[in-house]
Amino acid sequence: MKKILQDYSLDELKSQLTELGVKMPRMRAEQLYRWANEYVPFFEMTNIPKDVIELLQLNYDEQPIQIYKKFESKDGTLKYVFKLFDGNMIEGVLMKYKYGNTICVSTQVGCRMGCLFCATGLDGMVRNLSAGEILGQVLAVNHDLGGTVSQRQITNIVLMGCGEPLDNFDNVVKFIELVSSSHGSINISQRNISLSTCGIAPKIKALADLNLGITLTISLHATTDEFRKQIMKIANAYSLADLFEAINYYFKKTGRRVMFEYILLDKNTTVHDARRIKSLCKGLSYHFNLIPINMTPNAKVDPLLKPAGKTKTAEFWQHLKDNNISATTRRTLGEDISGACGQLRRKVIKEGEQ
Ligand code: SAH
Ligand code: SF4
Repeated sequence: MKKILQDYSLDELKSQLTELGVKMPRMRAEQLYRWANEYVPFFEMTNIPKDVIELLQLNYDEQPIQIYKKFESKDGTLKYVFKLFDGNMIEGVLMKYKYGNTICVSTQVGCRMGCLFCATGLDGMVRNLSAGEILGQVLAVNHDLGGTVSQRQITNIVLMGCGEPLDNFDNVVKFIELVSSSHGSINISQRNISLSTCGIAPKIKALADLNLGITLTISLHATTDEFRKQIMKIANAYSLADLFEAINYYFKKTGRRVMFEYILLDKNTTVHDARRIKSLCKGLSYHFNLIPINMTPNAKVDPLLKPAGKTKTAEFWQHLKDNNISATTRRTLGEDISGACGQLRRKVIKEGEQ
């Protein structure tokens, strides 16, 4: 199996080239690192001698992620299905906003967290993505949009595609360091990166200890342990008390506002939920993103996942307002092209099977 070029930092590439016996390893590593971030094939790396390219070709895969399919929504959102070197598929979404382009990347093939409402978890976990495979999604899309390292087309990253980022901790942290490195990489500021987790409490603390500049987003979706356990398996391992202890730790360490994702269901939008949110979040600086549930196969049939109707939703807004809870509705982009994470990948795989 070949190594993935985008898995390495500039210093690591230099050591690799030294090991391979390449002359002037520092200069070649700088050139190679830049090309890796431009996401071009070996034959386009014009300033690297042919014999070195031949050596690299034997050892490295320079484009570990291939764009397999691309769909454009009426609202301009682009949805990508990527093919990995081993044939696995993952998906990514590019959302266009006034302030810039946000890419949503996957961190695993599948997911073992098994949340009831989510399409990604339906087939279980296949494997972790390497740092370079996560980075490859950003670079492939930047390249696809005509961007370069110096004129990037991507301004923001959300780790909200397939997979649970904190279940692939080391590779995700390395990805964040690589994508925000200032040595010829695409150099996206950590302030513009948001990581979403279902709430693996000890890993939230470990993340806090790294003092990265990223935004932490928690998929909360319930205000009681009882209901959370019914829709999110992770709640069996970590209670809301454990989760909020970790969130408070994160907030104290980083001072950064914490974001919450909250699906609007019939069962989680009462006045009591609003009050419990207020008390759970005491002492935090925070904001809620309210999300209309996307109808995945499970969500269609499970009564626990009945969406909040119009009246209930409006009342919930009022309850949040009464409790001074800052909240907005996430603009649901790309609904006509299989919105929620994991749905498109499943669809493309199914079509391929027919
Ligand atoms: N595993 C991480 C990140 C990927 S999921 C996490 O769970 O946070 C990204 C977001 O999509 C999460 O907030 C998740 O709860 C939400 N999500 C998953 N399935 C959904 C659905 N059917 N409708 C609406 N949001 C969904
Ligand atoms: Fe995994 Fe997140 Fe989906 Fe839950 S919502 S199954 S943690 S990807």
